[in-house]
Amino acid sequence: MSEPKSNERMEKIVSLCKRRGFIFQSSEIYGGINGFWDYGPLGAELKRNVKDYWWRSMTQRRDDVVGLEATIIMHPKIWEASGHTSTFSDPMVDCLLTKKRFRADQVDPQDGIIYFFTGGRDAATGKESPESYSVLLAAGKNPESARKVARQFYAARGVENAELQGERTEAVQGSTRYNPENGSLLTEPRPFNLMFKTYVGPVESEDNVAYLRPETAQAIFAQFSNVLAVARQKIPFGICQIGKAFRNEINPRNFIFRSREFEQMELEFFIKPDDAAAKSVNAGEPGTEPTWGWEQWHKYWVEERVKWYESIGLGRDVLDFHWQAKEELAHYARATVDILYKFPFGTQELEGIAARGNFDLSQHQKFSGKSMEYFDEETKSRFIPHVIEPSAGVDRLILALLCNAFNEEEVTDEKGNKETRVVLKFHPRIAPVKVGIFPLLKNKPELVKKALQVRDLLRDSMTVYYDDTGAIGRRYRRQDEAGTPYGVTIDFDTLGETPSLADTVTLRDRDTMKQERMAIADLLPFLLGKIR
Ligand code: ATP
Repeated sequence: MSEPKSNERMEKIVSLCKRRGFIFQSSEIYGGINGFWDYGPLGAELKRNVKDYWWRSMTQRRDDVVGLEATIIMHPKIWEASGHTSTFSDPMVDCLLTKKRFRADQVDPQDGIIYFFTGGRDAATGKESPESYSVLLAAGKNPESARKVARQFYAARGVENAELQGERTEAVQGSTRYNPENGSLLTEPRPFNLMFKTYVGPVESEDNVAYLRPETAQAIFAQFSNVLAVARQKIPFGICQIGKAFRNEINPRNFIFRSREFEQMELEFFIKPDDAAAKSVNAGEPGTEPTWGWEQWHKYWVEERVKWYESIGLGRDVLDFHWQAKEELAHYARATVDILYKFPFGTQELEGIAARGNFDLSQHQKFSGKSMEYFDEETKSRFIPHVIEPSAGVDRLILALLCNAFNEEEVTDEKGNKETRVVLKFHPRIAPVKVGIFPLLKNKPELVKKALQVRDLLRDSMTVYYDDTGAIGRRYRRQDEAGTPYGVTIDFDTLGETPSLADTVTLRDRDTMKQERMAIADLLPFLLGKIR
């Protein structure tokens, strides 16, 4: 799917991320490195919250899923068995002029006139370049600009002042053979393996080649038997993992959407093959339906995952679904649905949920020579389990959450002036900081002392941010931009100036900007109820 260009909203989000310390370019002081991003103080908290909440939902709150934490570098045979060594590649094309590399399926189709040249001859030296070349120009553009590009092409081949030969033109529609940035012809598509290669040990030989994992899923399959032996689980059950994955993407883009180092949250949920499921008896415990076939489990996981997104503020209105057509499916997949988010640059994949049959375990059985079979007590049958795989990208989700939370609102301050309020409306569950703590005045020791007590009361249970500098309105705005859902202000009434209000604070809601008074003793239960 081609990804439309970024837009103004996206630029604002990227700049807020840098300004407030959500996301920085990796190695920025050295000019950055394309496709790698670092999470700053707020981003690190946000990311941790997302991963922790996924982990809680997917395993800690369920009886039928256990966790795994495997290495990034694994035996290279794993990638032969999974098919990654031979097929994990994207078609790539290079610009013949600038050498810039594109993913062939991501070049935007263009209409226009193609100018063909059969070669260039240097007017001064007589040197000739035999190569043919062509340039695509939008209709109505001055042909001279096509010739200029062609002259640059021949100059790069040693023909400085090319007199162009054999010029011919042809109108074209929807061509993806030309660089959309300069009109230059691209190379023919060639497969490009996306795995990062390295060597294990001191000798850089072919025998020592290893890869940084391009997905977390394969470790789950490779450790299936070990986990099964210890986890006291019966099929259906799942193994989940969160961790780094690496892909040498040809064209990383759209901020953290497509990067070269990223994190995945994956579940492999092992189920009985349909014939064994049909022979099973329903155990009657919700969530452990041994009678379900793959279609029911697939639907179940799609629904679970959508509910999960809803529970962190991504409602069905901002999501979309793509059920892959038969011809799009990987050869082993029975069905795949992509959960998409409506990003400012287009509706794009957040997570894929695939019914993968028993392809992966069968492959590992074949390549390792170790049995991956499971004996089902209930139906007295032996089989290689089938699997449903919900696979989500952490960083893409972070970007979706940032895009979804970003709001600019016109508000009127205490003096009646209109201003723009930038606010990140994160769901309290995933917000990096849960509550800002503000003594009304910095120079009143009693207020400060009380505020620090409130901070200490809360900070064992959640991330708090203590801020005593600047006008209170400014402090609220700073927390609005950080996405902090609540603000607690300690004022003179807290200290008992109005006796009936002693030991109460104001609690400000980020989204409504409304304030209510609440007893300090009620704060912790109230806030815990919102963030868990
Ligand atoms: P795409 O078609 O966008 O390259 P994919 O279909 O190859 O993605 P999967 O292999 O299904 O992706 O990976 C599962 C999830 O991992 C994706 O839904 C996405 O959230 C995440 N992911 C994959 N590649 C990247 C990447 N380069 N950067 C960030 N996240 C990624």
